[in-house]
Amino acid sequence: MSLETGATTAPRTSLSVEDARHRILNAVSPIDGWERVAIRDALGRVLREDVIAPFNVPAHDNSAMDGYALRAEDLPDGIGERSFRVIGSAFAGRSFSGIVGTGQAVRIMTGGVMPAGADSVVMQEKVRTDGEHILISAGVQHGQNVRRAGEDLSEGSVAIPRGKRIGPADLGLVASLGLAELCVARRLRVAFFSTGDELASIGSPAAPGQVYDSNRYTLHGVLTRLGCDLVDMGVIPDRPEAIEAAFRSAAASSDVILSSGGVSVGDADFIRTLMDRLGEVNFWKIDIKPGRPMAFGRIGNTWMFGLPGNPVAVMVTYYQFVMDALLKIAGVSPLPERPLIPMVCATAIRKSAGRQEYLRGHLLCEDGTWKVRPAAAQGSGILRSMSEANCFIVLRESQGDVAPGDTVDVQLFDGLV
Ligand code: AMP
Ligand code: MG
Repeated sequence: MSLETGATTAPRTSLSVEDARHRILNAVSPIDGWERVAIRDALGRVLREDVIAPFNVPAHDNSAMDGYALRAEDLPDGIGERSFRVIGSAFAGRSFSGIVGTGQAVRIMTGGVMPAGADSVVMQEKVRTDGEHILISAGVQHGQNVRRAGEDLSEGSVAIPRGKRIGPADLGLVASLGLAELCVARRLRVAFFSTGDELASIGSPAAPGQVYDSNRYTLHGVLTRLGCDLVDMGVIPDRPEAIEAAFRSAAASSDVILSSGGVSVGDADFIRTLMDRLGEVNFWKIDIKPGRPMAFGRIGNTWMFGLPGNPVAVMVTYYQFVMDALLKIAGVSPLPERPLIPMVCATAIRKSAGRQEYLRGHLLCEDGTWKVRPAAAQGSGILRSMSEANCFIVLRESQGDVAPGDTVDVQLFDGLV
């Protein structure tokens, strides 16, 4: 593998968000290894083999309505009514075994198997009953209200393609095919640690000047949601030997290493030089706010991301650069779209050109119109802004100040699934 430095192609000393994303996603590749799991355990896992429909879905022609199954050619094609004799019933799960002849009809319920001889269903609302007979006027087309066998999926076709991350609808779809197990990629193993002499761990009192380590907890959250196996390596002090030992042990046990802090150019920032010494590294200044410095590289076969230390910057860089890389390494293909949704901004925003900004925003409905409002405090250390937000407001590099009522792009935190 070679990691481009970009120095020959890019005159600027820092990368755009888009370029950094491309470089990372082009560099990483999927892991090997798979297992078979029971379908319930496949939620959130990545499919390793196409799921093939073992039979037609639906398996038989069946009724889309409650009504009467009959032969369309028996119906009057102009005006007037025609009487049919009702010779039996076909309920869902209990079919009619006879044959529907001329002038005959079978009472049928939604999902009931179409009886032999019948080709169309007349809705019960369009029928007048008269003892054992029904009366129908003109206006029903041949094949109407019938769901055809194989209409959803034909036998042997791909029901869910390899590379898809299994969601609730997929679980139901697999169950509808009668399949009990799925072949999924093994879980990605991700080691992570925080660096900083100022960091206190929960359970011990924070001395003056210390702050509690929060980054390991947000990373625990995002990685758990992604379905990774986690190796939490705790807080590592700002000593090169300690960080080197952490990198070596993480590289031996995991597919990916995430560190936070120590990636700037201060005296206690050793991540970049150590990554460089132990493996291959690209250190980037990215034109992003928050989260400008970030290191990316590998030790042996293990990918490394040196994330910034500020808690909001950790989350922004994780979502913009790391998450899709982890999905690709886990075997997801194609990667999900990350749509930007234009939204009216409720308040003014000051924006200096040159960096793509990810502000924390809140979507709200005012007088029947959805708008986005930026969080009041946007500091890269203010995690409350992430906790209260439900979207990022994405202001492009070249964009200037935003006035109330202007349209801005937003990226939602949550989807339905
Ligand atoms: P650094 O990049 O190491 O200089 O860290 C930048 C800022 O983020 C400093 O104010 C750190 O105290 C803070 N910080 C770094 N790591 C953490 C962490 N794990 N939890 C909370 N704050 C952190
Ligand atoms: Mg630090």
